[in-house]
Order: sequence, then structure tokens, then C-alpha cells
Amino acid sequence: MIKRFLKTYLLLELFKGMSVTWRVLFTRKVTVQYPEEKTPLSPRFRALHALRRYPNGEERCIGCKLCEAVCPALAITIDVHEREDKTRRTTRYDIDLTKCIFCGFCEEACPVDAIVETSIHEYHGEERGDLFYTKEMLLAIGDKYESVIAKNRDSDKKYR
Ligand code: SF4
Ligand code: SF4
Repeated sequence: MIKRFLKTYLLLELFKGMSVTWRVLFTRKVTVQYPEEKTPLSPRFRALHALRRYPNGEERCIGCKLCEAVCPALAITIDVHEREDKTRRTTRYDIDLTKCIFCGFCEEACPVDAIVETSIHEYHGEERGDLFYTKEMLLAIGDKYESVIAKNRDSDKKYR
């Protein structure tokens, strides 16, 4: 009882808390001032998707639909057509990012490294439809970031 009384009136708990504050005040800071400062990302970081092309501009995707089949969230929708030379290409490749759980299964399943997840995580949508990415949007991301994607995939092989 007396111990509790002394603890309360001598503000012992307060001084104990302040001692932690003073101790941490002069140690190295671990917080970063995002978005001005950024932490490094692993080459295996999984964020916004992209569709890639070969260096000659041809789309990599052959419309095999493995990514669509493996997607646990049913986020991918693909339509395919056969060209005159009997090769297959998609006429529609949509990803609904409101369903996607960024598991990376689509990327793992793709036999030609066509669909990949980039490390771009700073994107947003203000309406539900804004996070519905079409083939044209995914190809545009692939075109814009191909050098980074290729570099990350090279580093990624070191982990396999
Ligand atoms: S990351 Fe996973 S959930 Fe998202 S589209 Fe690919 S397979 Fe589907
Ligand atoms: S992205 Fe890859 S797995 Fe998906 S349909 Fe195209 S080739 Fe097949």
C-alpha cells in the first residue's frame, strides 16, 4: 500500500518512462521520412504487374492461360486468338487489382516471362475501376520499366 502511494506521488513511473525517451533520443534513428526517403526493396518484391515484350517489340505472351488458371483470386481474364502463322496472342489481358493478393503465382507459372510483378508500389485508384488494368496498360508499364524488370529478374535468378 505504502509502496503504491510512494510510486504514485514521487512520479516514479513518469521518470521511468522519461528515461526511455532520453535513452532513445540519442541513438541511431530507424524511421525514414517517406516519401522523400525510401528503404531498399528486394528484387523479388511483388507489386504492380507488367506485360513484357521481346527486344524486337513482339509480345512475349503466347496466350497459354496458365497464369489465369493458377491465379487463386481469379483476378486475370484472358481472351486469345490464333494468328495466320498459327501463333497465339491475347486479344484481352485484364488484371483486377482489387482482387489480386500479389502472391506471384502468375509470374511463376508463365513459361516465357511475359507477366511479371514489378517493384512499383506507389500507385493508387480513386474509384474501383481505376485498379482494373487492361492489356494496353500492362504493356505500357512493361515498355516503360523493361530495363529495371530485366535487371531484377537477373538478380532474382541468384536466389533460385
Ligand atoms: S499475383 Fe497472384 S492473385 Fe495476383 S494476379 Fe497473379 S496469381 Fe493472381
Ligand atoms: S502471361 Fe504467360 S502464363 Fe499468362 S497467358 Fe501469357 S504466356 Fe501464358
